[in-house]
Amino acid sequence: MAQLGMQRAGRCVRRCHTAPGPLPLPLQSQFLTPFNCSAVTRKDLRLGKQFMYAIPCHLTHRLSETKLRISSMTAEQAPVAPEISTPSYICTSVTATTVETFLAEIQEAAASGVDIIELRLDFLTDFDPEQHLQQILASCPLPYIVTYRPVWEGGKYDGPEPERLAVLKMAALLGAPYVDVEFKASPYFFADQHEVPLSTKVILSYHDFQQTPEPAVLERLAAAMLDAGADIVKLAAMANDITDAARMLDLLRQKKCPMIALSMGEKGQIVRLLAAKYGGYLTFAAMSPERASAPGQPDIGKLAGLYNYRRQGSGTKLYGIIGNPVSHSKSPLIHNTAFQHIGFDGVYVPLLVDDLEHFLTAFKDYSDFAGFSVTIPHKEAALRLASEVDPVARQIGAVNTLIRQPDGSFKGYNTDWLAAISAIERGVAGLSGGIASAATVASSAAESESPLKGKTVVIIGAGGAGRALAFGAATKGARVVIANRSQERADQLAAALGTSATSCSWEDLVLGRVTGDVLANSTSLGMTPHVEESPVPPQVAAQFKVVFDAVYNPLWTRLLLDARAGGATPVDGLQMFVGQALEQFRLFTGGAEPPAELMEQTVLDSMGTAATRPVGGK
Ligand code: NAP
Repeated sequence: MAQLGMQRAGRCVRRCHTAPGPLPLPLQSQFLTPFNCSAVTRKDLRLGKQFMYAIPCHLTHRLSETKLRISSMTAEQAPVAPEISTPSYICTSVTATTVETFLAEIQEAAASGVDIIELRLDFLTDFDPEQHLQQILASCPLPYIVTYRPVWEGGKYDGPEPERLAVLKMAALLGAPYVDVEFKASPYFFADQHEVPLSTKVILSYHDFQQTPEPAVLERLAAAMLDAGADIVKLAAMANDITDAARMLDLLRQKKCPMIALSMGEKGQIVRLLAAKYGGYLTFAAMSPERASAPGQPDIGKLAGLYNYRRQGSGTKLYGIIGNPVSHSKSPLIHNTAFQHIGFDGVYVPLLVDDLEHFLTAFKDYSDFAGFSVTIPHKEAALRLASEVDPVARQIGAVNTLIRQPDGSFKGYNTDWLAAISAIERGVAGLSGGIASAATVASSAAESESPLKGKTVVIIGAGGAGRALAFGAATKGARVVIANRSQERADQLAAALGTSATSCSWEDLVLGRVTGDVLANSTSLGMTPHVEESPVPPQVAAQFKVVFDAVYNPLWTRLLLDARAGGATPVDGLQMFVGQALEQFRLFTGGAEPPAELMEQTVLDSMGTAATRPVGGK
């Protein structure tokens, strides 16, 4: 095996077997090599000296001293990379720009709960290897990776290449547990008399900041990196679509050596969040949310807490919210909290999906993905793509929950309607505060006499939530009036509901020509960041007894504030959100009882103290 290297005369050495693709031209010119890098062969490498890079004098001196020390040690005495027994580690990067702050940040990182610290020497502006390298390495109380990333691979180091590689080599000789060497530079790194202590694990890394290569290319790269002498292969690529994340997860599933696979960007976030589940060597996390340096990078608290990173295993079931956007969603919070509370081995992740069909195809054989919540704009596509659809969901024409069936296909459900109707019923019945508890939602379905019977419910919006509300209100015996920005959709929905529903124009709605008992907004108007928007003027909101808003972020929308000011009872969208999540939880877990109050309180807490409940209170 290439990465095992060989033992010789009591000291550890390793050998580079093959060369990767050509180096960037400016890099090639910095080496004392007469050959084209792509033509480097094992024989060439054995020539050693001819291929050796020009280490500056002051570093050569230091290197020789260190080599002398290392070579006089027996194999047992040689520095050993600290071993950690858990299968997948959490790593954070230290990126301070002065040596002083770098040293302080190392201590901060060590206290943050990570297993490994990446030392990004290339961020340092006052770094003198001879003066600082040993000091930095000695100050690190945890296993660390020494990275000195050049500009040509997305880093900040733009000095001479030989000096950069000499620093990495010196770090290895000084006992660094890991060094990160760019795959393209690996022939040079290994060429210096072929010596790197085996106690140092060499991470050969490859970055593509534009795209995720085709699966076959990724596989070839991983194999070539292993062959080139990697102890750990690191592949990081930009995810332009969530299906790119599937490529990286595929790579992890098929890995033949320790591997770090990373999808950059929000669309690839699940690779970072689920690396433990798929056996990735480590994942990177920011020390705090404010310090996340890349889109999609989680912070340590969320990764270890919310996403249960350290407990993920091959048996962990996966769930997620499919939407666009999804980063604002409280669904991961509410479901992961509930899973952990009842000890259910499941993790729920955000899934930023552009095309639902492409997503489901790419993750077809990921049977561990057992169920999904579906939100804007995919609810109607979910109905179309489900192999089987619950009759209620089919009637509504929107699916907000997909559950994987034994044959890999998905059954679609709609848990929105009952949750929304239950919340409105509570408002109409004058019930204040409290949660749309599991019992409340469930009993609502069974009630024969709903407080909505005979009432007029004006619904704004004819999308997924609008259809769920309209269907639910009609089922409860209410007269339904539908207003929608696109009149045609309002007409179609009213026609689908039959005699219990009519449509009205957007103009009639806004001018207050349509009256009723309940006004229910199911558009996204008023949602963060457009918090000043409302579908109707204040005087129109005040014409109704109860005003419901499906939007729950913010909890007090402009519409609900206007409704309260005008004397109407405001009902917030959080009740609907919690109610639909309770039912999803039952579907996800095969019928487990959800911790309803905890789920609701968790979301409320996450919204801060300003989130006093509008529900029922005036
Ligand atoms: P959807 O299927 O995409 O429908 C969006 C609806 O909003 C359509 O009727 C659309 O009208 C209308 N709309 C969008 N932008 C508008 C604008 N600028 N002016 C007027 N109307 C506009 O989405 P959905 O799934 O029904 O969700 C709608 C809202 O309900 C979202 O804010 C969502 O967060 C919320 N929701 C909340 C919960 C909860 O649990 N509380 C559950 C589901 C949904 P057109 O037909 O003219 O495009």
